[in-house]
Amino acid sequence: MPKLHFKKPFTQQEAIPEAAKKRVMELLDSGRLHRYNTVGDEWSDAALLEQSFAQYQGRKYCLACTSGGYGLHIALRAMGLQAGDEVLTNAYTLAPVPGAIFAAGGKPVLVEIGEDYHLDLADLEAKAKSSNAKILLLSLMRGHIPNMEKLMTLCNKLGLQVLEDCAHTMGGAWEGKKSGNFGQVAAFSLQTYKHLNTGEGGLVVTDDAMIAARLIMHSGSYMLYERHGAAPKPEVFENIRLTSANMSGRMDNIRAAIGLSQMPRLDANCARWNSRYAILHNTIAAVAGLDIPLRDDRESFVGSSLQFRPTSLSLAQIPAFIEACAAQGVELKWFGDDKPKAFTSRYDSWHYIDPMPHLPNTLKALEKTLDLRVPLTFNDEDCYLIGAVIEQVMGEFMVSA
Ligand SMILES: *Cc1c(COP(=O)(O)O)cnc(C)c1O
Repeated sequence: MPKLHFKKPFTQQEAIPEAAKKRVMELLDSGRLHRYNTVGDEWSDAALLEQSFAQYQGRKYCLACTSGGYGLHIALRAMGLQAGDEVLTNAYTLAPVPGAIFAAGGKPVLVEIGEDYHLDLADLEAKAKSSNAKILLLSLMRGHIPNMEKLMTLCNKLGLQVLEDCAHTMGGAWEGKKSGNFGQVAAFSLQTYKHLNTGEGGLVVTDDAMIAARLIMHSGSYMLYERHGAAPKPEVFENIRLTSANMSGRMDNIRAAIGLSQMPRLDANCARWNSRYAILHNTIAAVAGLDIPLRDDRESFVGSSLQFRPTSLSLAQIPAFIEACAAQGVELKWFGDDKPKAFTSRYDSWHYIDPMPHLPNTLKALEKTLDLRVPLTFNDEDCYLIGAVIEQVMGEFMVSA
């Protein structure tokens, strides 16, 4: 059989909706790009995005800011983190997560994950007890949502506040409750490969008025907090407005308009991701030697990426397998690589974490984990072809073994 070839790029996003183009031109004509540059009682686009997302998420308060990582950073501060405090977080996550803890003056305490990519609750309990951490920064890395009821019950028992990193779970849920509505606070990323694409950006949600007020002050409100779209009443700011430092990280109106234009199609897009994911999942899971961990029926995930393991290959064969797939046009990332590469890095490459723990279960779970991005610019046929390429390459490795 001749070698199959996939030709589309894995990094191409869909066009931004027409509505955004029109609005961006209006903003450019007006010159009012800054979120506080409003006339009369009009809402800025940034405020409208906050209102729209608070409503979508079903949370009282929402802050739009410059990035997901920045949102996590100021959320930690707003939740009361003090310099030198330890913060529990998943060892399997993206660099902005430990970076946010570091930026807030905290110390990351990395918690093991299991084969299913979920946080290891026994290790969480042990590390909660052996550290002084009062916050768990729960990273729902690559959209894997664990049993949130069990996790929250344990965190309540341990007296931990939870900050959810929902960069990959916007639109996802556990047993019908939206991801991001379990912890005290949740942060979302609008970075270009996430579920809303504004290039860069972040949204932070909470139902806690005091935390919301602090978030707004930290984001750099110049005391113009009354112009926020989903904010607590002005009285709430009275006690904290002079003690919450300005760490400028505001959302601007152009990016907000771009985000706002995508809100009406967010749920439909999540369904489109899932139909592509289903094709890839079913093709890859059917190949001998390839393994995809089972997911719980109660998890409503958004399949914007897929993780699988070539379990029957040796570790030494993995780079050649990735190269062979790349030669046929299929781009895979490798979470087991000991060198950090585009968008993947293993915890042991964050050298500012001191002392660096040894986490054998996490290393084991990641050593053969490959990562496939699922852009919406791929159609069903593309997904079948990608699956067929992976199957073909795997077949050759099995024959030569
Ligand atoms: C993208 C991402 C973030 C936030 O990233 P920013 O680039 O700061 O918006 C946080 N956590 C995970 C797991 C991510 O993938």
